[in-house]
Amino acid sequence: MAQVRLQLEEARELAVRALAANGCDQANAAAIADVMIVAERDGCTSHGLFRLPGYVSALASGRADGRAEPAVERIAPAVVRVDGRGGMAPLALERGRVPLIEAARENGIAALALVGIFHMAALWPEVEAVAEEGLCALAVTSSRRLVAPAGGSRAMFGTNPMAFAWPRPGEGPVVFDQAVSVMARGEVMIAARDGHDLPEGVALDADGKPTTDAAAAVDGVLLPFGGYKGSSIGLMIELLAAGLLGENFAFETSAEFADDGGPGRGGELMIAMDPARFGDGAGWAAHSERFFAELLAEDGVRLPGGRRLANRQRIPTDGFEIPDALHGEILELAGGA
Ligand code: NDP
Repeated sequence: MAQVRLQLEEARELAVRALAANGCDQANAAAIADVMIVAERDGCTSHGLFRLPGYVSALASGRADGRAEPAVERIAPAVVRVDGRGGMAPLALERGRVPLIEAARENGIAALALVGIFHMAALWPEVEAVAEEGLCALAVTSSRRLVAPAGGSRAMFGTNPMAFAWPRPGEGPVVFDQAVSVMARGEVMIAARDGHDLPEGVALDADGKPTTDAAAAVDGVLLPFGGYKGSSIGLMIELLAAGLLGENFAFETSAEFADDGGPGRGGELMIAMDPARFGDGAGWAAHSERFFAELLAEDGVRLPGGRRLANRQRIPTDGFEIPDALHGEILELAGGA
């Protein structure tokens, strides 16, 4: 497949232009472009520019508002609620981050309740940003119905990612971010696009039969990781991101629109905790570092997030590649070269 090499700044400028040409104001275009560009920077192709046409589909259909200004309100001492007012998640997250951090520092723990947002980005940028301020962060969001519960063949859960970040003084935070499905939907879509098979145990086809055909998996359902254990985590995330916040469950999101590659409306819950406020004073940092040292004493064990950080060192100088066809599509959306 022919590829085009881009530098991060030129890719960001192109993404902003394409989004602005399709209904976004500058603040929304910049926030959405930023999450796609940090994904490319860290080698997370499935949440990079590959997603731009999907964002545009959701704007073009009128489902999402590219000019939405999120409303931020502290509804309890430790609860910050951000209503995205039908916009994409990135700007709502930007607006909620500082109030969340302030509330967590005041109370030791605080939650960010994001509603009225269209989310299809990776979650690690939002938890990493909070951990870079010295707090521990946990985030979950639901999407549309794509994952079957244990024992079933009917999708009931979203791919429901959960991200966690732990601050490390003097170093970048430890971050993991994982979907509840064995494989993220974006990876399955890329495998279908590129004609690659899936491993076994990832998906069922439209008839509920196990399949390794990525195209059949796109028309079927994904399976949760770890059988009934992952299924319970998918259920918990539905309840936290939808039941708790008064937002859509995955089955409600799916009822609102036909899949056009873009996000559906939903909620996200983020919890921030100040490790210095849980009784161990300043001891938490050195204590945790001793744990990391013990963990890493065995060959073959690495910290989650390490792959991304290694890419982050390399990509800013090398640039990154995207398929020629995707580049052409984005140029067209941006109104030309
Ligand atoms: P992966 O399975 O690729 O990775 C999951 C996590 O495991 C990463 O943090 C990864 O760190 C870590 N990891 C992988 N291998 C190891 C290892 N050997 N040792 C230690 N840690 C390891 O992620 P998924 O495919 O499940 O999810 C992809 C993305 O999709 C996520 O960013 C998620 O937020 C996003 N998503 C977003 C949705 C939305 O609606 N907004 C819906 C579903 C998914 P590392 O990066 O260092 O490899």
